[in-house]
Amino acid sequence: MPELPEVETVRRRLAPVLEGRTFERVEITDPRLTRPLDPVEVARELEGERVQLVDRRGKYLVVRFASGRALLIHLRMTGSLLHVPDGELEEDPHRRAVVKLDDGSDVAYRDVRRFGTWQLLEPSEVDTYIDTRVGREPLDVGYRATHLAERLAHRRAPIKGVLLDQRTLAGVGNIYADEALWRARVHPLTPAGELTSDEVKALHRGVRESLRAGVRRQGSTLRDYRLPDGSSGNAQERFKVYGRAGLPCERCGTPIDKIRVAGRGTWYCPTCQRLPLGVVVGARPGYAARSSSSRPSRSRRQSSV
Ligand SMILES: [Zn+2]
Repeated sequence: MPELPEVETVRRRLAPVLEGRTFERVEITDPRLTRPLDPVEVARELEGERVQLVDRRGKYLVVRFASGRALLIHLRMTGSLLHVPDGELEEDPHRRAVVKLDDGSDVAYRDVRRFGTWQLLEPSEVDTYIDTRVGREPLDVGYRATHLAERLAHRRAPIKGVLLDQRTLAGVGNIYADEALWRARVHPLTPAGELTSDEVKALHRGVRESLRAGVRRQGSTLRDYRLPDGSSGNAQERFKVYGRAGLPCERCGTPIDKIRVAGRGTWYCPTCQRLPLGVVVGARPGYAARSSSSRPSRSRRQSSV
């Protein structure tokens, strides 16, 4: 699934072709895209809207119109957008929507698995809608470790799961959560509220560094392949832990291990990322708990979930 870096890459590519343009004709052919609203009605409402800004919040693309309304696009698993300048679209069985712009070009939306969504929000609902679902932007200049600390305090769930919650901070998914935790040397099962303030600072830094690396990588993919289709060949080998089970940790050489946390495949280095003393992996999958007797963290090895 696209995470912040991938969606940011799409945003940067779309902004120059959409900003200032008017949606002249809109066709939405998949009712799942706008459900529960009628796709024909949503398409009609979009016609005539002029794009002021192509924005991003977390994993949402936010097309802000001069009217104050906004179109929220979530790509989910397989959604992608294609700009065709000459207006000559090729046949595509997975196309779900086409926007004809007032310069004669088309923006086509394709989605193989059809989990993506298009939501047209009225001016009064845009910010509330987004802010109740999405936390702060981790790459904003003003995003501080104290903001992260506030969201982690008193949380008993494993830090990995808490990072995946979009209200903790915006745009981190399975890949960048693992990457950030490795950079911060924090075990993914550590209860979020038990991170020390140094660990929170390291995680704050780790999140920002891994997301920035992702944006850079996507940017180079974009130059090489023209399309941010997520299938680029060289992305995986540049990750620190994600998808690298059995390969040596670049810091210490220990083979990267894979476990499940919060229902998701999770990669980490068993040497660099230790569970704090006294935290053992409980019987419930994906949960870490403090044991009453202080047992060494080594016990996690047998009880990996
Ligand atoms: Zn290591």
